[in-house]
Amino acid sequence: MSIPLLPDSPLSLWLDLFGDYHPQPDLQEHVSVDVAIIGGGFTGVATAFELKKADPNLNVALLEAKTVGYGASGRNGSFAMTVVGLGFGVTAMLRGKDYVRRAHGYMMKAVDGLEELIHAENLDCDMIRPGFLRTATTQSYIKRIQHDVKLMNELGFDDITWISPEEVRQRVDSTVYLGAMWEPRLLLINPAKLVRAERDLALRRGVRIYENSPVVTITSQPQFTITTPRGSVTAEKVVFATNGYSHLFPQLKRKQVPAFTYMIATEPLSDRQLEPIGWQGKEGIEDARNLIHYYRLTPDQRIVLGGGPVGLTWANSLYGDSDRDAWRHLEEHLVWLFPSLKGVQVTHRWGGPFSVTMNLSPALGYIGDERAIYSVGCIGHGVSMSHRNAQAIRDLLLERQSELLECPFVNPRVIPWPPEPLRMMTAGALRAYLQLEDWWYEREINPLTEP
Ligand SMILES: Cc1cc2nc3c(=O)[nH]c(=O)nc-3n(C[C@H](O)[C@H](O)[C@H](O)COP(=O)(O)OP(=O)(O)OC[C@H]3O[C@@H](n4cnc5c(N)ncnc54)[C@H](O)[C@@H]3O)c2cc1C
Repeated sequence: MSIPLLPDSPLSLWLDLFGDYHPQPDLQEHVSVDVAIIGGGFTGVATAFELKKADPNLNVALLEAKTVGYGASGRNGSFAMTVVGLGFGVTAMLRGKDYVRRAHGYMMKAVDGLEELIHAENLDCDMIRPGFLRTATTQSYIKRIQHDVKLMNELGFDDITWISPEEVRQRVDSTVYLGAMWEPRLLLINPAKLVRAERDLALRRGVRIYENSPVVTITSQPQFTITTPRGSVTAEKVVFATNGYSHLFPQLKRKQVPAFTYMIATEPLSDRQLEPIGWQGKEGIEDARNLIHYYRLTPDQRIVLGGGPVGLTWANSLYGDSDRDAWRHLEEHLVWLFPSLKGVQVTHRWGGPFSVTMNLSPALGYIGDERAIYSVGCIGHGVSMSHRNAQAIRDLLLERQSELLECPFVNPRVIPWPPEPLRMMTAGALRAYLQLEDWWYEREINPLTEP
């Protein structure tokens, strides 16, 4: 059975403004390699260049169905952050405090490591390190955020603090802010520029990259044989760096489901339009909902805002990248946050899949024997994580011991999603629960919450 092809999708701001892009030629021959990587997002590209750095003699090929950055890596909110899953408090409730301590340590190194990589390799991606605000917009969210700050301080992470409404509004002025969690460790990048600069780094290190080369079949006896419409690869080892598309592969069908998040970008704002808002520090901002809103200011002074409603699709369908209601919600939310921006033009609307595991935790590891590796479940927080995961995948592939492999994301027990129709019912019920809880936390400011 053939793996379904991916649909075209509305271009993200980042991909639209990228400028001239020259994809690598598609695969039109048979090649034989040590490692084949499927997927040209952060996970795939970073795994490729990490492998070649560790062992320049390895023969590595990367196959991307469309162009590098087509998936979440070219469409995301651009936050490289320490958050795992649905945030500190929820993760502690689901997985325990020790898990949060270990996961947060991993993620701190993920953010710092990405910053070091960008500097060391001179990757052109508009990186800044402005810090992160998780803003409270209701009394209930104040309690939730203060609980999270206390939890992280108890676990020894002292750089996460609560700041008063006045301090928040000195940074970014919205009357809806009632205080915030402040964490200095956050990078903002241009994701399309980053993933494509990483593609070029991988090429310089000798990785063979084939774009517009969707993998349509994979067999594994005795070596892996991977076919694309016009070529094939035999490989000793395979990495499935396919994130929210992983369920399309029979080997990974039950490990994750895709959920879709949506984004908008405004036209560039003038200094006069920004004056009432401030935002000189260009902090990355999220709210404290389960179905978070996340937003930032770009170097050319656009506001990029995402989140709120989350889409689900049936079985193998990937037609979830567009949602007019979600985009309308985001436009209303922008004006709710910053009423002075009423009437501002929205120039870009897009969406994309993020990968969700049953226990809302990231997972990577071996599939069956030690020749195939997967990585799923970034739950919309994979920009920095995917880079550290790539180093863990490298160590698994090279079968070498490292502290990375002690991370709780590595080789965990993955609870399988059920087949349809139960899968849709389970995912729908989880989303409904998260929405209901958001509604409850926002009961003092409704009717803004979506039903
Ligand atoms: C709208 C949006 C906003 C987000 N915002 C943030 C954020 O601000 N911060 C954050 O940390 N995370 C965010 N995320 C999540 C983050 O972008 C991802 O976790 C991360 O990019 C995952 O990278 P990846 O390489 O694992 O997957 P992807 O970038 O999705 O790459 C997977 C690749 O596999 C390819 N592929 C699939 N099937 C095949 C096939 N058959 N053959 C060949 N190739 C195939 C796809 O084309 C794709 O390029 C967001 C996600 C979305 C969708």
